[in-house]
Amino acid sequence: MSSHSAKRAGRPLSELLRVPAGPVRLADFDPSATPGYPGHGKSDSQEETDALGVELSDLQEVLYANGRSEPETAPGVLVVLQGMDTSGKGGVIRHAIGLVDPQGVQLAAFKAPTAEERAHDFLWRIRKALPGPGMIGIFDRSHYEDVLVVRVESLVPEAEWRRRYDQINEFEAELVAGGTTVIKCMLNVSFEEQRRRLAERLAEPSKYWKYNPGDVDARLKWPAYQEAYAAALELCNTPDAPWHVIPADRKWYRNWAVAELLREALADLKLDWPPAEFDVATEQARVEAS
Ligand code: AMP
Ligand code: MG
Repeated sequence: MSSHSAKRAGRPLSELLRVPAGPVRLADFDPSATPGYPGHGKSDSQEETDALGVELSDLQEVLYANGRSEPETAPGVLVVLQGMDTSGKGGVIRHAIGLVDPQGVQLAAFKAPTAEERAHDFLWRIRKALPGPGMIGIFDRSHYEDVLVVRVESLVPEAEWRRRYDQINEFEAELVAGGTTVIKCMLNVSFEEQRRRLAERLAEPSKYWKYNPGDVDARLKWPAYQEAYAAALELCNTPDAPWHVIPADRKWYRNWAVAELLREALADLKLDWPPAEFDVATEQARVEAS
């Protein structure tokens, strides 16, 4: 048995990374930990991730097939990626989500809202981007920005962002009741590692495009962001849509972990290939004779 499958007998990664109910202190989460990793470390992470890729793409294809044959009732999956700049949302999309067929993936990146988006409720643009049946939706940032940057920068009055935690819980409960599995991932990068990654972006012309001077402004408000994250992780940590904190200082672990969370969620759907909607023997005969 490979180390990979050996680990399967243990606790699911979703349990290991799930934020426990109750008060949250981000300082209690180690950004360089590697819980549940089945191999030795960075040296075998490519192998482990490739192995996951094989399983993931099979599971994703079954999900997609169900969406095609039962477009009214097939489930969907939504992966919510949150984290400070450089925490690796883009890296996860490239290396973990990149393991599955892009035809089955619906990617949405949320930037500062446009004038049109601001004229609507904060969930308006989010609802429009939800994955349909059979699809895997990826949110690169999400409705949580509306209680993170919005809270830290006081972009709306406090009474308004305070109401949003309950609104988010209701929204996510509705989503889950409608057949969408919601996987919420906070990519937890340390303050020191963020500085290293920002410096790296400035040291290399091929990385300038990733650098945004505004990232340093957010970095200077690190404690306020940590507090805002802790509040979101605590107040929106429901049994139906729990939060996971992904240690993100080691890129290889972070990518493996999100891929594994997705694999577990897809496997939990226990989907079968949809049955043929035609008579197989008749069609075989027709093809043969053609
Ligand atoms: P990036 O994901 O690095 O391309 O940056 C997107 C930027 O959009 C970040 O600075 C976010 O904080 C910002 N952003 C995303 N959603 C919102 C929102 N609802 N309100 C204000 N800013 C937002
Ligand atoms: Mg950025």
